[in-house]
Amino acid sequence: MPPFDVPEGDPFGVHNLPYGVFSTAEAPTERRVGVRLGDHVLDAGAAALALDSPYAALLAQPTLNPLLAAGRTAWSDVRRALTAWVTVPSHREVVEPLFHPLSSVTLHLPFEVADYVDFYASENHARNVGQIFRPDAADSLTPNWKHLPIGYHGRSGTVVVSGTDVVRPSGQRKAPTDPAPVFGPSVRLDIEAEVGFVVGVPTELGTPVPLGDFREHVFGLCLLNDWSARDIQAWEYVPLGPFLGKSFATSVSAWITPLEALEDARVAPPERTHPLLPYLDDSAEEPAGYDLRISVAINGHVVSDPPFSTMYWTAAQQLAHMTVNGASLRTGDLYGSGTVSGPEQNQRGSLLELTWNGRDPLELPDGKRTFLEDGDVVTLSAWAPGPGGARVGLGEVTGRIVTG
Ligand code: MN
Repeated sequence: MPPFDVPEGDPFGVHNLPYGVFSTAEAPTERRVGVRLGDHVLDAGAAALALDSPYAALLAQPTLNPLLAAGRTAWSDVRRALTAWVTVPSHREVVEPLFHPLSSVTLHLPFEVADYVDFYASENHARNVGQIFRPDAADSLTPNWKHLPIGYHGRSGTVVVSGTDVVRPSGQRKAPTDPAPVFGPSVRLDIEAEVGFVVGVPTELGTPVPLGDFREHVFGLCLLNDWSARDIQAWEYVPLGPFLGKSFATSVSAWITPLEALEDARVAPPERTHPLLPYLDDSAEEPAGYDLRISVAINGHVVSDPPFSTMYWTAAQQLAHMTVNGASLRTGDLYGSGTVSGPEQNQRGSLLELTWNGRDPLELPDGKRTFLEDGDVVTLSAWAPGPGGARVGLGEVTGRIVTG
């Protein structure tokens, strides 16, 4: 077992070091903070204790929350310590036995999710949805879209870790042409390929977070699938927005990639076509976009490659907007970017767009798809450019649709 000798070019090399929470077959009820290196997981708390590290209090924990709350200086210090533990030869004898093969552990939801918010930040996605649902509108974007990042509050208690089965939701639906609503399992179950941002450092009620403080509060990111029952959503969402069509499940990847691992992936967001109010104006800020290359696969067949670099609103702007009214942040707050859709047909992040609301079925090796069928397994995966041409692996978020 050579975890110190991760092959060159491995997307989970020492340049990455994402955090998760795992348990082993020997101690299934004992959750531990783990750090991924190659195809192994380091028991980070055990390593901290064995090396008499001051960070044992942050790492010998059943969730990432204490580390999240510790703040940016501690995040950097812990990352530097971990890098030394897995690279300095004198640590090898102590640290090597604390690695577990990834295939032998169970991965859990890595942090206690506090509040959950979901945005709508892809211009391509918003325009596609506008054309599908408001074909007669003069502009496919609503008048507010270029002025603020549109979002809604979701249900944090139904955020689940990758690998959790998703039960097909039941609810009311009524097509415009139906005389009355009917109740039953959703027949238009969809995905939304997104990136989730994880808040570490909380704020006091009444104190907005300016754009430039994004990195003081946000620890890292994960992949997120905002499962969506389009038929339930279409009937319920006017005028207060998504509710039961979304709240039945939201899946996140098991690995949280710290922002520090993504320095080489930072890019400027698309050019702004409308002037922004000062609290959202990022023209003088450092680039806050991220070049993340996402893939969407259904039953192992790639159907789309959404590019995160095309997102109009950045995560820093979303954080500034979400707190500009004085709403406070809590450790473990999670916010979704919104569906990531690029300009090309094969870059769309939802089946709604990929099949144009069911009009153009996808041809998969196992048959045609408009929306998801029971037994379908959806997997989002991603990587980002890293140092020296390396890739930063963002892991995957997967889920199987089961009968309700
Ligand atoms: Mn969404």
